[in-house]
Amino acid sequence: MMMSNDSSFTIAIESERWSKETPNGITTLRSKFDRWLAENAVAEGVDLLCSTLAKSLIYQHSSGGSSKVRRVVGVSTDREDGDVSAKVVIVADGVNSLLAKSAGMYPNFTIENLTLGAKEVLHLGRDRIEERFGLKGDAGSDIEIVGCTENIAGGGFLYTNQETVSVGVVLSLKDLAAQQVRPEALIDRLKSHPSIEGLLAGSTLQEYSAHMIPEVRMADWPQLASPGVLLAGDAAGSCLASGLWLEGVNMAIGSGITAGEFAAAACKNPASTDWAAYGRSIKKSFVGQNHRRFQRAPELVMSNSMQRIYPKLANDIASSIFTVTDPRAKKGIIQTARSIMAESEIAVRKLALDTFKIWRAFH
Ligand SMILES: Cc1cc2nc3c(=O)[nH]c(=O)nc-3n(C[C@H](O)[C@H](O)[C@H](O)COP(=O)(O)OP(=O)(O)OC[C@H]3O[C@@H](n4cnc5c(N)ncnc54)[C@H](O)[C@@H]3O)c2cc1C
Repeated sequence: MMMSNDSSFTIAIESERWSKETPNGITTLRSKFDRWLAENAVAEGVDLLCSTLAKSLIYQHSSGGSSKVRRVVGVSTDREDGDVSAKVVIVADGVNSLLAKSAGMYPNFTIENLTLGAKEVLHLGRDRIEERFGLKGDAGSDIEIVGCTENIAGGGFLYTNQETVSVGVVLSLKDLAAQQVRPEALIDRLKSHPSIEGLLAGSTLQEYSAHMIPEVRMADWPQLASPGVLLAGDAAGSCLASGLWLEGVNMAIGSGITAGEFAAAACKNPASTDWAAYGRSIKKSFVGQNHRRFQRAPELVMSNSMQRIYPKLANDIASSIFTVTDPRAKKGIIQTARSIMAESEIAVRKLALDTFKIWRAFH
């Protein structure tokens, strides 16, 4: 936890659990990971078409009883003679899925469902990373930061890779549009914070990227399937943004597996497939279960109290506790907290209500 003033402090959780053989999480550079994944798919018999734009879905119209039925039977691409027919199309074109939008599958999507992630990958070298972050072997360090995005709801992050460090911000798109601030300026200010600057000293910029992130509650998910077409990954809103952490890649893979299994069964008889069953499968899978469990978290973490009031309160309390006040005697923690809360006009009732909300969002 870090505030943009001098009195910063860090909460470190040290446990044997983090250094066991199976890590609690891993970082990967997408340019390498995606290539590895694609090579494995090709080895299993997949035809990979790179540098190909899927321009639109191809439909077949037929009459089913009294109504007309429209089913997707392929995609039209920008290649010469580029139409590709398919019994099932899995649309996984990412957060701004133009294909799914063209099929009318995004009825409830708004700017509130989107954040912007901007990230720098800085080369530091393995030795310096291990020394500065206190790491050994393949262990890594991940620091999640609140209070570093000024008047924009969001947060910052800094995590180590083997040779590089990734540092960036995730910002509410709505707030960003209303402010005259560039994401790279926020990253620069974050990098120059006294708690961060020393960790990154002497690093060189290797990569810069910015991309939208879907932060969609299950209630606002797109329609996950329609005849002949399934959505997976960010296109399906599967990215889990709890506000404190982000799980997009594993959720994309999870929804992709469910889509692949469903498609394999549907290919046997597309005309009589219950397409709505795909949405139910996703909701039953770990992707849906995680979304259901943490559905209240993003709104809570992006709220004014969590973004500004409580980080400042925690910082003020810590700085008061750790400041030597001689010859005045120190106040006790409760007394300190009370006077800071009174100064910041935080009612005990609000604190109790927010504590309940935090418990409800993360229990
Ligand atoms: C700054 C930032 C930090 C993040 N950090 C994390 C993290 O720490 N952990 C984590 O798990 N997730 C993280 N995510 C989220 C994660 O990147 C996404 O959730 C994940 O990449 C979604 O995978 P996807 O395959 O659904 O979509 P994407 O990775 O967006 O892939 C979609 C692909 O489809 C292609 N495409 C689009 N339209 C077409 C078309 N018409 N024809 C052909 N191809 C098309 C695109 O070029 C792209 O290659 C982060 C995202 C950002 C922006």
